Amino acid sequence: MAESKTYPLVIIGAGPAGLAASIYASRCGVKHIIIGELLGGLIAETHLIDNYPGIEDVTGFEFSQKLTHHAQKYGVEILPVKVNNIKKSGGEFELEIKGKENLKSLAILIATGTKRRKLNISGEVEFLGKGVSYCATCDGFFYKNKTVAVIGGSDSAAGAAVYLSEICEKVFLIYRKEKLRAEKYWVNLIEKNPKIEVVYSTNVSEIVGAEKLQKVNLDRPYNDADFINLDGLFIEAGSDPKLDFARDLGLKTDEGGYVKINSDASTSVTGVWAAGDITNGSDKFRQVITACAEGAIAARSISNYLKR
Ligand SMILES: Cc1cc2nc3c(=O)[nH]c(=O)nc-3n(C[C@H](O)[C@H](O)[C@H](O)COP(=O)(O)OP(=O)(O)OC[C@H]3O[C@@H](n4cnc5c(N)ncnc54)[C@H](O)[C@@H]3O)c2cc1C
Repeated sequence: MAESKTYPLVIIGAGPAGLAASIYASRCGVKHIIIGELLGGLIAETHLIDNYPGIEDVTGFEFSQKLTHHAQKYGVEILPVKVNNIKKSGGEFELEIKGKENLKSLAILIATGTKRRKLNISGEVEFLGKGVSYCATCDGFFYKNKTVAVIGGSDSAAGAAVYLSEICEKVFLIYRKEKLRAEKYWVNLIEKNPKIEVVYSTNVSEIVGAEKLQKVNLDRPYNDADFINLDGLFIEAGSDPKLDFARDLGLKTDEGGYVKINSDASTSVTGVWAAGDITNGSDKFRQVITACAEGAIAARSISNYLKR
């Protein structure tokens, strides 16, 4: 059997954290490869970004493309595939990659971000793609002039509601608490928007339909009814870290399963760094700017480690 190819560094994840790390690693002369399923990362699915300094009003897709091109400018190879498992043996790591030969590396940067949390309610699986979606930017277009709801109270939920109000006739924003936890910026936009109606202190208990979604049942009455008729439902109920593939490494994580990092983005396992949404760093403020910053810090630390 052919010997696996060994890289000084493998970056897992092609989002802002992985791509920023790649730019810095290239400029430090660290040979590496990126393995990341979704080029540009989660931000590619976002409607509009207007909080990354120096870049105003850019769509998530355009921003993710700019980031990818910037990393590729330095000649990095990006494999758009999934890492299934990593094992450490001595001072090396062996990566099992879906549909490709295994790779070896001396250092690993984990920048795999998060996955959308499911509500685990009746109808959620049954009506996925038949009215239920986890991505307003991807699927909002299908609900032109229709009535939809967004579940959640975060920046992502608020952003999705505002985006959908530009396409749909009516948008309900259903949140389990009394007050949205989104930034004031989003709350102001929502309050001024006549198409968005916020349903506070309410949970969706069931998603109901026939061929496709027709209504959601609520755990308390709203406008004298315990249901809302809908054409589409967008679930923005938070995220969980994507770390299953690294379970054999035994990395220390916090109570939410996010990788614990030191100030140089190193982890509890020698030779492994982590950056971006997957970590407990940057005061758990999971944004593009913090992901890029952690990626840059990790790249510098890895470069110093490899020189030693
Ligand atoms: C709807 C929405 C709106 C947002 N709006 C903003 C905003 O306006 N401004 C802002 O700053 N932030 C925003 N964010 C947050 C921002 O998207 C994230 O903070 C940022 O994308 C984190 O970057 P990351 O590189 O850590 O992870 P991600 O962007 O999630 O990238 C992870 C990468 O890892 C890959 N990956 C995962 N598992 C594996 C595996 N096993 N094998 C190979 N590859 C794998 C993924 O395919 C992807 O390439 C928003 C998020 C959402 C959901």
